[in-house]
Amino acid sequence: MITIEQADRLKQLPPYLFAELDRKKAEAMSRGVDVIDLGVGDPDLPTPENIIKKLAEAASEPRYHRYPSYTGMNEFRKAVSRWYKKRTGVELDPIQEVVSLIGSKEGIAHIPLAFINPGDVVLVPSPAYPVYAIATMFAGGIPHEMPLLKENYFLPDLTAIPSDVLGQAKMMFLNYPNNPTAAPATLDFFRTVVDFADKHNIMICHDFAYSEMSFDNYVPPSFLETPGAMEVGIEFHSLSKTYNMTGWRIGWAAGNAKIIGGLGRIKSNIDSGIFEAIQVAGIEALEGDQQCLADMRRIYTERRDILVDGLKKLGIKVEPPKATFYVWFEVPSGYTSASFAELLLAKSGIVATPGNGFGAPGEGYVRMALTVPKERLAEAVERMAREGF
Ligand SMILES: *Cc1c(COP(=O)(O)O)cnc(C)c1O
Repeated sequence: MITIEQADRLKQLPPYLFAELDRKKAEAMSRGVDVIDLGVGDPDLPTPENIIKKLAEAASEPRYHRYPSYTGMNEFRKAVSRWYKKRTGVELDPIQEVVSLIGSKEGIAHIPLAFINPGDVVLVPSPAYPVYAIATMFAGGIPHEMPLLKENYFLPDLTAIPSDVLGQAKMMFLNYPNNPTAAPATLDFFRTVVDFADKHNIMICHDFAYSEMSFDNYVPPSFLETPGAMEVGIEFHSLSKTYNMTGWRIGWAAGNAKIIGGLGRIKSNIDSGIFEAIQVAGIEALEGDQQCLADMRRIYTERRDILVDGLKKLGIKVEPPKATFYVWFEVPSGYTSASFAELLLAKSGIVATPGNGFGAPGEGYVRMALTVPKERLAEAVERMAREGF
C-alpha cells in the first residue's frame, strides 16, 4: 500500500463555498421539489443551426481528423482578427497576436504559468470568476484581491493597491462586462488601466467573455481598443456565451505578441489544440448569419425585465443589468448571502448563488442567472411573493 497525498497546490485551494448549497439542492431535487435553478452561468439556449451544420460537415472530412495546429488553424485566427476589426476597429496579426484556446478558461488557467514566478503578485478582482486566483496559486504566485465595490461601480480602485504589493505585481486580471456583478467598464477606466500598467510594469489580462451579451443598445468596449492596450495586455474571449457554445470548448486570446507567444509556448507543451472541425464551425459562428445575436439579446432582455421588475415589486433594490445574463443584488437586511440563498431554496425551491462564494467583498449579495425560460422566472418571482420575501 502506498500513501496517496495530494500536492500542496491542491491542499492550499480555498474552501468550495457552494458545496453546502449544492448538497441542499440535490437533496431538494431528490425529495421531488420542482427546483428553479438560477445558479448556473450556462446558456439554456441551443447553439444556432448553421454552426451545428458546419460541424457535421467538417467532422466527416479526414483532413480535420489529425492533430490540429497548437496555436490554432490560421483560418480560424484570421476570422478572429476580422471579427476584432469589424467589432472593435482593432487590427491584429492573426499569427503573432491571436492564439486559439480550448475555451477561455483554459487560457486563463495557463497564462500565469508563462509569466509568474513563485512569490510574484497577480492582482485579481473580488468577487470574481474563481479561475484568476486559483491559476495564480497553481503557478506559485500570490493573488492580491482588488475589491469590486458598489460605490466604485464595481470597478477596482487602483489607487488603493499598497505600493509594496505593486512592487511585486506582474499581472492583473479584469473582466468586463463583469461576472458576477454584471457591471460594465468604460473606455475611461480602461485608459486608466493602461497608464497604470505602463507605469508599474504590469501585464493586463482582460476577460471579455460577455462582450456580445448586452442590452438596451449598450456596446461593451474591448480593452484592446484603448490606446496603448496592445503594448501592455491581452484579451480572452470565447464563443461560449455569444453563440451558446459552452460545451464546444473553443475560445482565443488576442493582443500583445509577447504575451500571446508565452501562452502559446505553455500550451504547446500541455495540449494539442482544438479539434479542427470545431474551429471550422467557429469560423461559421463568427462570420455566418448574426441574427442569433439579436435573438439572444431579445430573449435575455425579456427575462431580465421579468426578474428585475418582480424583485423590485418585492422591495428588493436592483438595477436592470446592461450586460451579462446575471442579476446581482443586495440581500434584504437581516440576511447574509448564505442565509438568504438557503432560505430561497428551502421556502421557494429557487437556487441563487451566494455572492460571498465569489470572494469576501461579494458578501451581502446574491447572483441570479437568466438561464431558464421566462415562464420559470415569472414562477420564481411568484413563489417569492407567496413566501413573503
Ligand atoms: C463563462 C465565462 C468564461 C467562459 O469560459 P469558456 O472556457 O470560454 O467557456 C470566461 N470568463 C468568465 C468570467 C465567464 O463567466
